Amino acid sequence: MFDFDNERHNKLYEIISIMKLFSLIVSGMLIYSKYLSFYNVTDTFAAFTSFSAFSLLVVTIFFIYEIWMFSTKRKNSGFGMQDIIEIMIFISIFTSLVIRSQATDTHAKLLFLFVIITSSIQFGIRFGIVIALVSSFIILLLDIIYIPYSSINVIFQNDLILVGVFVLTAWILGYYERIEREHRDKMTYLAIMDGLTEVYNHRYFQEALKNYINEAKIKNYPVSLALIDIDCFKSYNDLYGHQAGDRILKEIAFILKTNIRESDILARYGGEEFAIIMPKTDEKQALEIAERLRNIIDKYRFQGEENLPNSNLTISIGVSCYPDKAKSLNDLINSTDDALYRAKFFNKNRVETYRSVLEELKEEIDDKHFDLIASIKTLISVINAKDRYTYAHTERVVMLCELVAKELNFSEQDSKTLKYGAYLHDIGKIHISEEILNKKMPLSEEEWNILKQHPQNGVNIIKPIESLSNVIPLILHHHERYDGLGYPSQLKGEEIPYLARVLTVVDSFDAMTSDRPYRRGKSFDEAIEEIKLCSGTQFDPQIASSFIRILLSRRFEINKTN
Ligand code: GH3
Ligand code: MG
Ligand code: MG
Repeated sequence: MFDFDNERHNKLYEIISIMKLFSLIVSGMLIYSKYLSFYNVTDTFAAFTSFSAFSLLVVTIFFIYEIWMFSTKRKNSGFGMQDIIEIMIFISIFTSLVIRSQATDTHAKLLFLFVIITSSIQFGIRFGIVIALVSSFIILLLDIIYIPYSSINVIFQNDLILVGVFVLTAWILGYYERIEREHRDKMTYLAIMDGLTEVYNHRYFQEALKNYINEAKIKNYPVSLALIDIDCFKSYNDLYGHQAGDRILKEIAFILKTNIRESDILARYGGEEFAIIMPKTDEKQALEIAERLRNIIDKYRFQGEENLPNSNLTISIGVSCYPDKAKSLNDLINSTDDALYRAKFFNKNRVETYRSVLEELKEEIDDKHFDLIASIKTLISVINAKDRYTYAHTERVVMLCELVAKELNFSEQDSKTLKYGAYLHDIGKIHISEEILNKKMPLSEEEWNILKQHPQNGVNIIKPIESLSNVIPLILHHHERYDGLGYPSQLKGEEIPYLARVLTVVDSFDAMTSDRPYRRGKSFDEAIEEIKLCSGTQFDPQIASSFIRILLSRRFEINKTN
């Protein structure tokens, strides 16, 4: 699962390969010394031929072995048939060398050590000892076969020591491998688990998600992600202290862990946030799972929850899905985060999926303008890349506008127009350079003039789409002021279209409460004061007061999200 584990495996594999190759070369040398060096070495030509033959042998061995290793580049998982075949080949080569020497060549016998060492390191104590015993058995058997009748078989006696060395080597190396593996497992456990909740930690989550997305790309299956945030958890901590809070975190982690499927991966994403990776799960299934989890936590009676704001400890969940709603890992996390944000924004204790306003827009629009929608999508992602503020700001303004439309009972048509207007209102900023958008110093007059063109630029972009014609006034006039001092048309009071006036207030509220490179955002209360102050000059006083009423009634949630 982890790169470092593979790295370790590859390095080990390298050392072991070199060792095996070396044992083959030594075997080659033994063959050479016995069978090929029959020339008289004082003869230069003969020496040359002999040397060439030996080199050829070594090179051949080298190539055969490299090809074998390359073709069997093994995965990091136990031993398989290939390993057994390889070990058998090595043992056969060494055995035939011992047989050729009539069991008298100690060098050939020593070669068995190579295979014992590599097996013990690679596959552990049991396998190492088995190989040591097999090797010992072969050697002792050959000793008895070839030198059967001497009263004292000296070679056999010497080889008994050799056998002892074999077993001892396998035992020591195998034991070391076991200690090292157990230690490694323990360290890996500590590195991937969260100490408090005993679910996977953030590091593991990132790695696992990356792996699943990569696999999903190849095998073409969906991966869903859920982000879970405990509602009003700060209040719980404030009421009962952090230790009690920690117990709740453990309890929730346990409930989640026992209620997900075996294939799902639960991780602690952050402080009081959890994430669930659901491989091979589409959004619909993921939603069902998320809803079931939300319901379980909702019903569960946690100690002391009666004193919380809603007398209930609940969770909010955001869900998104690769590849339907997100095209990459980052996209998936961002869209799930956006979904969670929506779940929090609309009341908490709920599950939300990622929903792009653009997708909804698509349903409204004639087929012939689909291309344009695709280019709007591109524009939005370019703006996103240039200026993260505009993007997040747009999302928040859309949500606030949806809230206002709901609270003020707008007609369905007006709600949609306002929502699409909110979504597209800054699209004209695409023509403005990154330096101006993110400038830390106040803008010069010339830069201001460029910035002021964005409403008209936005209109130019969406003009060809007839079904968006009623959104045009919102985009064009969202920077007008009630007193007529705005731009671009210096409209005044009710000359400014109603929905544009609504958008101005919502847009300004979000701009005031956001941090910009050149200033810190205002607090919720400061922003409300500012709206009051500008009511009648910048803002339509009636709309401003309705908006303040809505803000105050949702104070907790909106205050938090800004
Ligand atoms: P919301 O409903 O909007 O989620 O509000 P919230 O109070 O839960 O706020 P938020 O999600 O921002 O959660 C932050 C709080 O979570 C702050 C802190 O009190 C609590 N928290 C974070 N990590 C831990 C932790 O490890 N242990 C405990 N006991 N509390 C934690
Ligand atoms: Mg949180
Ligand atoms: Mg929370």
